[in-house]
Amino acid sequence: MIPLCEPLLNGHEWTYIKECLDTNWISSAGKYVDRFEQEVAARTGAAQAVAVSSGTAALHLALLAVGVQPGDAVLVSSLTFIASANAVAHCGAFPLFVDAEPEYWQMDPAGVQDILRHSVPGAAGPVDRRTGRRIAAIVPVHLLGHPVDLNPILAIARDYHVPVVEDACEALGAKYRGRAAGTFGDLGCLSFNGNKLITTGGGGMVLTNNAEYAQRVRHISTQARASTTEYIHDAVGYNYRMTNIAAAMGCAQLEQLDRYIQTKCRIAERYNNAFAAQPGIEPMREADWADSTWWMYTIRVLPETFGLSARELSAHLREQGIATRCLWEPLHRSRAFPNCSAWRGETAERLFNQCLSLPCSVSLSEANQSRVIQTITAGEKE
Ligand SMILES: *Cc1c(COP(=O)(O)O)cnc(C)c1O
Repeated sequence: MIPLCEPLLNGHEWTYIKECLDTNWISSAGKYVDRFEQEVAARTGAAQAVAVSSGTAALHLALLAVGVQPGDAVLVSSLTFIASANAVAHCGAFPLFVDAEPEYWQMDPAGVQDILRHSVPGAAGPVDRRTGRRIAAIVPVHLLGHPVDLNPILAIARDYHVPVVEDACEALGAKYRGRAAGTFGDLGCLSFNGNKLITTGGGGMVLTNNAEYAQRVRHISTQARASTTEYIHDAVGYNYRMTNIAAAMGCAQLEQLDRYIQTKCRIAERYNNAFAAQPGIEPMREADWADSTWWMYTIRVLPETFGLSARELSAHLREQGIATRCLWEPLHRSRAFPNCSAWRGETAERLFNQCLSLPCSVSLSEANQSRVIQTITAGEKE
């Protein structure tokens, strides 16, 4: 089976992790945690980085840091991995889902503008007209390694004084107008889950240029402990810290990030060239304001032209030993969020029906990629 997207661990992972075990620094403090935070901050240009146990934890902490309260509304993409919206629910707040735009499949800035322009002013911020909930934050999600068009979202967020938390869990290394995704909002969140561009097994990071937010995130991620020597706490906190073992792996992975991105771009270019002449297959595109990492290479399959639907093509590829995956069920349709409010959603639904992610591991061989391409382009004729 050619896998969809596997991690590659052939750098200093063993050496750094062995050092943690040999020195007994295995838990949620240690030099690799500090080093990983510093190196991710340096790499992205964020002033502060706080290592945590997952991307979901990063989002939860970031939303708490900007003051999301139970009963609030938070604007989130409908087309995203459910963790983006789960973090909102973990705050006791309610996601208000925004449709994708059809060009690059990212959160549609027009939806964010529409919702805020129709909001009514409240004592603690704009109130969503339909749900009566305070709009407490906006979560633009950078999907598949490609950044959201942030400027229009940041502009309206500033006008209405609504904080922005970027979900950059899929977008480490991606750039929006030359600057790292995850460094534009009040806070940004990264994931180092096993399927992401670099991995710590499981882990995440909160980025921010605001020292107070960083301090707040660090504090609540460590059970809100108010003393370094005594067990005295000043709030209800969480155990969301990253372990030194995970951070050691992260340091080793980060050393290879540039090479991984180059490889992802090369894989994407080969696919793009191969599908350019294939009717009914439309590859994901890169906006002129974007440097995509092409983290998860995805195509749109147009059944009328191609002859097979995305799910039929997926089944055909599986028979040939090729793993693929459809995009996420749009969250405004998810059973996890019944009675949720949403701004449109037809584009997200169409992309859910038509999109298919193809094998794009950093370790994907040219021969295996050729097999994927040939199986797809020969698909209808077999
Ligand atoms: C992976 C991912 C997350 C969550 O990260 P975990 O580390 O798995 O908790 C959040 N949002 C998006 C868009 C993701 O792809």
